[in-house]
Amino acid sequence: MLLKPRTTPRELLFLRTLSPRMMFTEEQMEDYINLEKGYEGELKFDALMDNQKREHLLIRDLFLTCNKSDFQLDNLLFTPERIYQLEVKNFEGEHYIETEAWYTSTGKQIKNPLLQLKRSENLLNQLLYKMKANMKVDSYLIFINQEFTLYSASQSLPVILPSQINRFLKKLFKDDNTQNFIYPRQKGIANQLIKLHKTETPYMQIPEYNYRKLKKGLVCSHCMGWMEVSIQGRVKCSHCSKEEFYLSAIERSVEEFKLLFPNEPLTVNRIFNWSGGCISRKTVQRYLTDRYKKNGKGRSIFYEKN
Ligand SMILES: [Zn+2]
Repeated sequence: MLLKPRTTPRELLFLRTLSPRMMFTEEQMEDYINLEKGYEGELKFDALMDNQKREHLLIRDLFLTCNKSDFQLDNLLFTPERIYQLEVKNFEGEHYIETEAWYTSTGKQIKNPLLQLKRSENLLNQLLYKMKANMKVDSYLIFINQEFTLYSASQSLPVILPSQINRFLKKLFKDDNTQNFIYPRQKGIANQLIKLHKTETPYMQIPEYNYRKLKKGLVCSHCMGWMEVSIQGRVKCSHCSKEEFYLSAIERSVEEFKLLFPNEPLTVNRIFNWSGGCISRKTVQRYLTDRYKKNGKGRSIFYEKN
């Protein structure tokens, strides 16, 4: 039973929307690629968990605070005896550990992911203690990318390599007793944790942007190329030739605009301009009138959620 699904991280939504429309610095680009890759890894792991036949209790993507410290959990799996904290990493290539420091094959030191794992485990334990939930937490780092190798990893580390994932999951879900995997008490604790989930992530790193400087147009949802007018009722990607109906293209445009400029009034002109004039003012107006509440008069007409 999935008690809380995963949603696309807000920071990633911003970066996806901004990247084709402005120049990122090298560092911003690297952050964006890492975030995209991390999310892709989490979705891959989600698919593996969704394939498990045995009924289980799972929370995805929790953002919590304990003693003024924020921490994030990729997956929490509840079994009758314990809670498994499963953190997914989509690292690629060769890595090695030397006296507890992690390096890539080129010798570049990276943040030790085990420290982050331990930190969130400690905070989760403190939180569970406060909630009087007497449950043991076991934490694992799961490396999901088949192209990942780790040298000098001691067997005692809570690390699951790509070739070990299936065996690891099999063991987690082992059917060695006939008892149910889901108990009301565990479900109660899980729901209490979900109630504490914070929706706003305070440490989003988004490049500065302003409306005037951003490139306008419709971005292809498939390849991020630019869309152009095609046959009636559709736009077509100039790069991959994917076609899209006007309505879905306007909808994406409106969502992007609302994400980047939540305090700006939604007007026909703005969306017409934002989508690079690919879709006529009349079509944009029809879309907004159908789905939003019209406010104001004459030139100051704007649209709001119904
Ligand atoms: Zn395309």
